[in-house]
Amino acid sequence: MTEQNAGPFHFVSDELYAEGVSLRRIAADWGTPTWVYSRAAIESAWDAFDAAFTGQPHLVCYAVKANSNLGVLDILARKGAGFDIVSGGELARVIAAGGDPRKVVYSGVAKRADEIEMALRANIACFNVESAFELDLIEQVAGAVGKPAPVSLRINPDVDAGTHPYIATGLKDNKFGVPMAEAPGLYARADASPHLAVTGIDCHIGSQITSIAPFADALTIVLQLVDDLAASGIAIEHVDLGGGVGVRYSDETPLDLAEYASAIGQIMGNRQLELRFEPGRCIAADAGVLLCEVMGIKSNGEKRFAVVDAAMNDLLRPSLYGAWQRITNVVRKDVAEDTYDVVGPVCESGDFLAKDRSLAVEAGDLLAVGSAGAYGAVMSSNYNTRGRGAELIVDGTDVFCARERETIADLMRLEHTLPP
Ligand SMILES: *Cc1c(COP(=O)(O)O)cnc(C)c1O
Repeated sequence: MTEQNAGPFHFVSDELYAEGVSLRRIAADWGTPTWVYSRAAIESAWDAFDAAFTGQPHLVCYAVKANSNLGVLDILARKGAGFDIVSGGELARVIAAGGDPRKVVYSGVAKRADEIEMALRANIACFNVESAFELDLIEQVAGAVGKPAPVSLRINPDVDAGTHPYIATGLKDNKFGVPMAEAPGLYARADASPHLAVTGIDCHIGSQITSIAPFADALTIVLQLVDDLAASGIAIEHVDLGGGVGVRYSDETPLDLAEYASAIGQIMGNRQLELRFEPGRCIAADAGVLLCEVMGIKSNGEKRFAVVDAAMNDLLRPSLYGAWQRITNVVRKDVAEDTYDVVGPVCESGDFLAKDRSLAVEAGDLLAVGSAGAYGAVMSSNYNTRGRGAELIVDGTDVFCARERETIADLMRLEHTLPP
């Protein structure tokens, strides 16, 4: 969300709009807290990423975990997107939303046998394998099903993505991927198995990365391995650079996609390899806001708190990573600003959406938390028996309900008291 009068979230006089719909109107019709996504924003982020690689053979697989709402997946499936999944559940979502399983890559630190079988039977493009034990299990399942499994090894290239420690994944002391030194041995083993078909190499070095250098370093390392494998007679068809392209939450300068694509094209040279990418955040983050209402203002000594009806169970990023997300009045007003912590009603001191923000707020005001389309609703929980908010998709002047607000009955539906 920007402060300018442009983009999917913009002001019309003093009111914040999502495309052609007033967020005040949405709050009145749907209540709060509510997630609001812009279809146009999702589509244009997708188009920008895909278009950057025009001229290089490539497949962009949207990382479902960033926002797995069926409506969001539907929008991307209609664009012909590939999908990067991390569970059997995510595969089921992709299929339910009309996505093509043949464009699915399956990532994740460990996959269960039933999930592997489901993916194999659905004819996914590739398993991104993260360990020797996982390679063994995939081989066993593929043998039992009688269908070779396409595999890529996720290499841990040991490059520093320069991002928050919780979202850096490409350093050798992270749990992710296979160390470079073990890769040739595992490839030889996979190549020798009748139940495995070696197709690629992948890596994913972290998230919210704002410079090209770490990606370039990772690709250079991956291509060295491609050459080493070629020398031992193992042909690689694709290299997957993962996701990780960052967005602007506050004052970051996201990398330029055209420069990113051109840097990668240069390193690739004239190799006949398909490139794959797994962007999540940069497709979905800026396409969503979390709408909430100020329940009241209180102060304890020096501190002033704006208590809102959304909390860490709705949006976990501020509590989990100390993440900064923009907070904007839905209706601009002429009151003096003060410094507030924006907090929710959950019984944890770590329950906050923002700290020390200059805001002009009173009880009853509506606030929009920006860049909330990725790692927002998907990370929400029912902590404190709080139902998840509705998820809406705005398309021009239309509003679609992509997920209904959870009721208290929904929250207790799977639970039972003991027998008498
Ligand atoms: C989380 C993840 C992604 C998506 O990362 P973003 O930073 O959202 O682009 C891609 N690939 C893998 C393996 C992941 O774990």
